[in-house]
Amino acid sequence: MADQNIELDAVIVGAGFAGMYAIYRLRNMGLSVRAYERGDDVGGTWYWNRYPGARCDVPSIDYSYSFDPDLEQEWNWTEIMAAQPEILAYAQHVADRFDLRRDIQFETEVETAHFDEASRRWQVTTNRGDRIEARFLIMATGSLSQANTPEFEGLDTFKGAVYHTGRWPKEGVDFSGQRVGIIGTGSSGIQAIPEIARDAAHLTVFQRTPNYTMPAHNAPLSAEYLADVKRHYREIRETQRNSLVGIVAPGLGFGGSGATPPTENILETTEEERRRLLDEEGFAAIRRFVDVMTDLTANEVACEMYRQQVSRVVDDPETAEKLMPRGYPIGCKRPVIDTGYFETFNRDNVTLIDLQQGSIERITETGVQTAQGHFELDALVFATGFDAMTGSYLGVDIRGPSDNTLRDAWHAGPKTYLGLTVHGFPNLFLITGPGSPSVLTNMMVSTEQHIDWVADCIAHMDDRQLRSIEATDEAQEAWVEEVNIVSRGTMHTAPTCNSWYLGANIPGKTRVFMPYSGGFVTYRERCEEIVAAGYEGFTLSP
Ligand code: NAP
Repeated sequence: MADQNIELDAVIVGAGFAGMYAIYRLRNMGLSVRAYERGDDVGGTWYWNRYPGARCDVPSIDYSYSFDPDLEQEWNWTEIMAAQPEILAYAQHVADRFDLRRDIQFETEVETAHFDEASRRWQVTTNRGDRIEARFLIMATGSLSQANTPEFEGLDTFKGAVYHTGRWPKEGVDFSGQRVGIIGTGSSGIQAIPEIARDAAHLTVFQRTPNYTMPAHNAPLSAEYLADVKRHYREIRETQRNSLVGIVAPGLGFGGSGATPPTENILETTEEERRRLLDEEGFAAIRRFVDVMTDLTANEVACEMYRQQVSRVVDDPETAEKLMPRGYPIGCKRPVIDTGYFETFNRDNVTLIDLQQGSIERITETGVQTAQGHFELDALVFATGFDAMTGSYLGVDIRGPSDNTLRDAWHAGPKTYLGLTVHGFPNLFLITGPGSPSVLTNMMVSTEQHIDWVADCIAHMDDRQLRSIEATDEAQEAWVEEVNIVSRGTMHTAPTCNSWYLGANIPGKTRVFMPYSGGFVTYRERCEEIVAAGYEGFTLSP
């Protein structure tokens, strides 16, 4: 049943973790809210990315809501880094516990959102014929939700099944006895490949760029550990809020968490020392060094160390050579973690096709035609990522008061103030938008901070009977400049780096480094200072 002509305080687009918390927070303020979600249940990323091996790369202790102490006490995470089914079950539990579904309309896509100058309200329509008016539009659509399927000629002629990791069928896929092809070796491909290889008769991996991936060293969480965490959740949350990336889970001893921060310099080590470290610690040895992330020469030494380790794990020297990343630094792309990725290429039923030796020419009825030959397949998996950070916003036709479109406003790359608001679009809030720390941090921490900021802002406006808020052009330009400045000198913006952070994975997308890399705590404090200064950089109107 369509919501014909209803009026709300806020329309929330998306019912992933961000949308769910937005419903909870705004509803508790007495506001009328409704979320529109294209899936048939909550969970967002964790609803769609059900591919085999899907798992979070942030410890579950950190990757969970902090807003309700009782929720923290009653939920028992089972592993250091939870797999997709457990995270989805957590999302569903939260939806049940706080009765969120009554304010969510599922299987509905928001198509247009136009700001009407006269009423100073958003007019929103959906693909199911809903027409909603709302004071505020909250885009809780996620940074990695617009799946990217490259336009290969002939794809529609392929007679086998086609899947995208970011749109995995709910009922799962049985690959047993099948010849499966997978395109893409980013986080999704690297997680899916070992699992699919176990099931399929044969797996052909089409790799365009070899990736730097580190073993996850995942493990179950003991009852003692969980009990200890539960006693200390408040301190853990406080530490998260004051950290660079919002990942602090104590005592887990890996990347950015309770582990000791790196202090050694790789440029001060000898080749022999590096070899010994690889003998003792494997890939993890590279994490010891602090200069790797700041100095390209140090980084290249680490890359060489990495390649040596690949050759130790992969039996066939030719395959190992193809799997070795070259020509771009470690830390340029989003870090990838895996479970048995390189070992998978030692299996008899796995073939690696290095597309740098001859790219995909087209998809045929029976497989993939490359410049190196034709590969017969029964099923084809796209692990080709997302139109990241902007795709989900531009998927809705968003127009400001003068019929100005967000698409036009962002034609030379996204511009926002704090990653939360956009000049020319009053009462529009982006949750973890471009220009916020978002994907460089634990999304749970960033999401809660954003929604709290938005909720406080709406409360501030209501207290003063203000009807609209809009970022000024000057404040937005200054913020865009600040985002650029803090990204300089990092591996993310190294000249040879091509990542989805820069939009480089989507043909024709403007190359701009999109997330704020100054760290979560600095960003949070900036947001708070701006509020304390009376919403500096915003125009608030009665
Ligand atoms: P991705 O990192 O963008 O990787 C896409 C892969 O597809 C790359 O290997 C890319 O090659 C390849 N590709 C794209 N277009 C292609 C084409 N036309 N021909 C051949 N190959 C092509 O996407 P993703 O793996 O889905 O990961 C995206 C992000 O989602 C991650 O970085 C992470 O933030 C998040 N994620 C997280 C987890 C986790 O928590 N563990 C798991 C999955 C995803 P090139 O490198 O050459 O472009």
